Amino acid sequence: MKKFNPEQAIRDIQHFGEEGGVVPVIDVASTSTFMDPRDMEKTFTGELQGCYLYSRHSNPTVNIFGKKIAAMEGAEAALGVASGMAAISCTIEQVFLNEGTGQGHLIASQTLYGGTYALFKNVLTSRGIKVTFVDTTDLKAVEAAITPETKLIYAETLSNPLLAVSDLKALSQLSKKHHLKLIIDNTFTPMIIQPLLHGADVVIHSCTKYISGSSDFIAGAVAGSQKFISSLIDVNHGTVMLTGPVMDPRVAHELYLRMDHLGVRMAAHSKTALFLAQKMKKEGLPVIYPGLENHPQHHLMKELSGEGDFGFGGILTLECKDADAARVLATKLQNNKFGLYAVSLGFSRTLMSCSAKSTSSEIPEEERSKMGLSEGLLRFSIGYSGDAETMWNRFISCYRAK
Ligand SMILES: *Cc1c(COP(=O)(O)O)cnc(C)c1O
Repeated sequence: MKKFNPEQAIRDIQHFGEEGGVVPVIDVASTSTFMDPRDMEKTFTGELQGCYLYSRHSNPTVNIFGKKIAAMEGAEAALGVASGMAAISCTIEQVFLNEGTGQGHLIASQTLYGGTYALFKNVLTSRGIKVTFVDTTDLKAVEAAITPETKLIYAETLSNPLLAVSDLKALSQLSKKHHLKLIIDNTFTPMIIQPLLHGADVVIHSCTKYISGSSDFIAGAVAGSQKFISSLIDVNHGTVMLTGPVMDPRVAHELYLRMDHLGVRMAAHSKTALFLAQKMKKEGLPVIYPGLENHPQHHLMKELSGEGDFGFGGILTLECKDADAARVLATKLQNNKFGLYAVSLGFSRTLMSCSAKSTSSEIPEEERSKMGLSEGLLRFSIGYSGDAETMWNRFISCYRAK
């Protein structure tokens, strides 16, 4: 079977500016004119589809950004929203609404982005949604957690920050068997893996990360079937339409343009990350990177990857002795211009943070230790700017000096 090529799919989306410009214009209008009042009425009743009404419902610039996200994911449709968290919360609530009363049970991976964990554990449960966290790489544990109320399974393609790869095909078979929806956060692996093509029902992105690439926007996206994406903006039941976290057309325009070089950037992140991970491993350092042969799911990740040489992504982790050792090393690395001590990922420069003390601190210590997330884990989002050999020399001189 010919593998899917996301770069070509994005390349083939073509929109012209008003006067034939090579890029589309930004349509900032918050509301749109109807030439016939009856068409406005039919738009509200749902008899008429495809008219622009009001920008919280849909906007031409946000729509064409959605087309590029859909192209990248091999999806029927996609919608840009205000943040990755908006993408997650609206998607979850929409699945529950579409499946019935808006309540029920979900099974989530125990290693998730800390914000997602807190949303599930503290916010969704307060609204009557039951949540069970399990090790989603253990399919028996996932199946055992299914109850008659279960509506969905939620996981990340590559888990944050432990970098376990989800067996998307197996999870999708299990979901289909039990009539559940499989929702996958693909923030760490845009271009590299297309979860929908392996059977996921909905894919989520924090576009704040690689899709922006410049750490200058908060944005998100949801990709899936046309039916599901349309349900998000339904005037009576749509969670994006009615809770309101829409994407601004100016943001959509910027990100639309950046999608064209996302493939080049992902390949560059991956190349430098692999180079540094191999060097660290050769030095005998406890590095985790899915591109290394010794990573437990190295072959699974290769199998899941589509066409194009986008590698294994830009995230790697290094196990330091304890939180203090991680702090000391990170400070040296920042002072020696190896990277910046900041949360987030996907920036052109290297970012680093101690996960247990930052983006995973929402997860209680007991849970963290159960999943193997230690206090000394230093997470790196490897940037592509600068010469890799120079970066390695900076890294190792700091490491040895510790
Ligand atoms: C950052 C992140 C999010 C949240 O996205 P925001 O754009 O910050 O709202 C969700 N999932 C993962 C994996 C992330 O890294």
